[in-house]
Amino acid sequence: MTNEQLRVRFAPSPTGPFHIGGARSALFNWLLAKKHSGQMVLRIEDTDLERSRRESEENIKEALKWLGMDWGEGIDVGGPYGPYRQTERLDIYKQYTQKLLDAGLAYFCYCTDEELEAERQEHLAKGQTPLYSGRCRNLTLEDRKRLEAEGRKPTVRFRVPGGKQIVFTDLVRGTVSFESDGVGDYVIVKSDGIPVYNYAVVIDDALMRITHVIRAEEHLSNTPRQILLYEALGFPLPKFGHISLILGKDRTKMSKRHGATSVEQYRKLGYLPEALVNFLALLGWAPAGEQELFTLDELVKEFSMDRVAKNPAVFDVDKLNWINAQYIKKSTPERIAELALPHLAEAGYIKDTGLTPEKRAWIVQFVAAVQDHISYAAQIVDHADIFFNDTVAFENQEAQEMLRDPDVSRVMDVFKEKLAALEELNASAVQGLLKSMVKELKLPGKKVYMPIRIALTGQMHGPELHHFIPVIGRERVLQRITATMAKI
Ligand code: GLU
Repeated sequence: MTNEQLRVRFAPSPTGPFHIGGARSALFNWLLAKKHSGQMVLRIEDTDLERSRRESEENIKEALKWLGMDWGEGIDVGGPYGPYRQTERLDIYKQYTQKLLDAGLAYFCYCTDEELEAERQEHLAKGQTPLYSGRCRNLTLEDRKRLEAEGRKPTVRFRVPGGKQIVFTDLVRGTVSFESDGVGDYVIVKSDGIPVYNYAVVIDDALMRITHVIRAEEHLSNTPRQILLYEALGFPLPKFGHISLILGKDRTKMSKRHGATSVEQYRKLGYLPEALVNFLALLGWAPAGEQELFTLDELVKEFSMDRVAKNPAVFDVDKLNWINAQYIKKSTPERIAELALPHLAEAGYIKDTGLTPEKRAWIVQFVAAVQDHISYAAQIVDHADIFFNDTVAFENQEAQEMLRDPDVSRVMDVFKEKLAALEELNASAVQGLLKSMVKELKLPGKKVYMPIRIALTGQMHGPELHHFIPVIGRERVLQRITATMAKI
């Protein structure tokens, strides 16, 4: 790297939910910037006036912050090369369009959509690649006046130089080349005066002094069009790096069919930002060693573009779940409870509002008992029933049968007695109590633990009893045992 400061940008189009692929692009840029003490620019590409939404822009910013990324320049924070929202830069684009027109590198095109479509069909019928014919390439001033008098509004097309090979070295893909003859003069400004992506992006990246353009592979085919514009405008070329597609586990392009695709959805399901960011980093980038869990700081240290893979990244939700589970285990129950509350409310276990401090504290206790068994906070609901619902239902015949064992009544009596005698009801006290029962009753552990578990929950598996019992509390434990044993 030269002395020049590394400058990257994340340039989303705010047209819908913020896709995890976008978050991954943002992350790779951010990591590269942090690693090289560079600058991260956040630019909003909102030239699609119909589809762009401020709400989506807000959503993107929120998601980036939530994931732990910041930007030193861009919307909200400003900077020396603003404005950073494309619709606020229309005058800037206009100046460059005029330059291109003056130099004969671009021209007005009056073809209507219908005419262009007819031309396209003609090419297709002849088995040719449909490229713009160049019909308006050499219009005279009179021609233009006549066409304008017909009420036609021109677009501006870039005059693609013929017979040129466009070669560049992609940081991920190596040498990439395209023939300019396969491109055809393309529109750079639409008839409403709004520049298209391929044009605005070049001016912005150049004026914002972007040194590295790291973006999704889907833009690889746009790059030759952009390079031709860099050359026409006399701008130095940045380095390009196109990161691979994200595929679902079935190796088709990641889509809604594969489950949640937006950052917001994962956030709502109760994934932790540090887990999601860890997972996203591994989508297309491979660390040098075996380590799989990384903090953001560790990622910054480890990240490098030469370990970004060319082949598609596979979105393995099981891996995400595993990573998230590791972070959940390390989190405080208070934090996980906070994330679980909306799900518990939705499932009807709690009222949406009006949690007393006692109830909240109890929920934290409940979460602490099960948080090692969930992959994301919404799964808390799957563990809630035995904690919230005192009506014990046997999960199957076998469970019920087990309580008919002749040793069971003795086990229950001793348990109730010892429980009543405990000074303080906590995990280690219950653990000690159960151990002492095994010893005193001279029974195999299973014959002590299983009947108690079934009497309290109706189930043969579940959270550790010493975690479960203190959450339920003495009174409810005794009530449940009495009620269940009455059903035997
Ligand atoms: N606005 C483009 C997008 O969201 C950005 C492409 C680029 O990074 O050049 O796909």
